[in-house]
Amino acid sequence: MEFHYSTYRIRLRHTFTIARSSHDYYDIIFVYLTKDGITGVGEAVPMNRYGEPFDRLLKLALTFDINDLDDSGSLDDWLDQLLPKADSCRSFSMALDTAAYDLWGKLHGEPLYDRLGALPEKTPLTSYTIGIDSIDVIRQKVTEAEQYPILKVKLGTDDDRAIIETIRDCTDKVVRVDANEGWDLETALEMCDWLATKNVEFVEQPLPSSDLESTARLKEQSPLKIIADENCLDSRNIPELADAFHGINIKLMKCGGVREGFKMIQMARELDLEIMLGCMIETSVAISTATHLSPLVDYADLDGHILISNDPYLGATVDGGKLTLPDGPGLGVTLRESVAEPMEEELA
Ligand code: MG
Repeated sequence: MEFHYSTYRIRLRHTFTIARSSHDYYDIIFVYLTKDGITGVGEAVPMNRYGEPFDRLLKLALTFDINDLDDSGSLDDWLDQLLPKADSCRSFSMALDTAAYDLWGKLHGEPLYDRLGALPEKTPLTSYTIGIDSIDVIRQKVTEAEQYPILKVKLGTDDDRAIIETIRDCTDKVVRVDANEGWDLETALEMCDWLATKNVEFVEQPLPSSDLESTARLKEQSPLKIIADENCLDSRNIPELADAFHGINIKLMKCGGVREGFKMIQMARELDLEIMLGCMIETSVAISTATHLSPLVDYADLDGHILISNDPYLGATVDGGKLTLPDGPGLGVTLRESVAEPMEEELA
């Protein structure tokens, strides 16, 4: 098996602002695993919140060595050898895990959803994310999002009520709220009571991840369901979350890949936690990977590729909010012809 990688700058259609940061672009890394002339692809995006800036991903890619890898065994054997090489960097682990699943699927003619026991016709609707912005821009974004039946709205600002009032001025479609740890308990209690009168479906990560105790008090009193995001990195977090949250947001970039994400789904089901599948700002490689898992969950927030203007890949599509999986083995993603030139930097 051979490894190589390329870097790529994804550009956002709109500056993307959440409670703690603002971006026009992100530099990301694609990794490729090749065996018998067949190549699988995976994607790592930086996550500063979790100590994984782009520089760290690049350093891992530059020094990555799979000369000692025995690729004669099963996919699990591959993952057992590959993932520890990510040095506990979750997004890099995700890229390796995805490339391995994609390569295995292509070598065996098996779409990823088949391997996961997921039915492609059962993909859910995805929400469409409205980041933090001025009231005028939010109004414009809601208009642009007309084809999406569910909006996910970023809050955690001084203007939270004005943002929701503006959206309700434009549309009565279902809204999911993500406060990205931006509230304290008192604010969260007030906001959840108020949002419950505004056709809001649930609230994601209202309080700082360090304050699980207050989140448990909020869960007791809130009329709206509370979903964990920053509190839920991987399966090790799940047992402690059942008392404080109604559900979890699984992001493959946060948990380190498909194998861990699938394990989280099984654990959450055993604990009666609802499951949402979310994403970072990502291309069709990572979004399609998550879409293969999406028939197994309750809610999808897989719009990262819609928010960027130069996605180099084609894969899962979104039409009227409905996610559709591509045909083909592995992930089923293909390079778009218009950006099929060599990427910005490549190391064979
Ligand atoms: Mg979130």
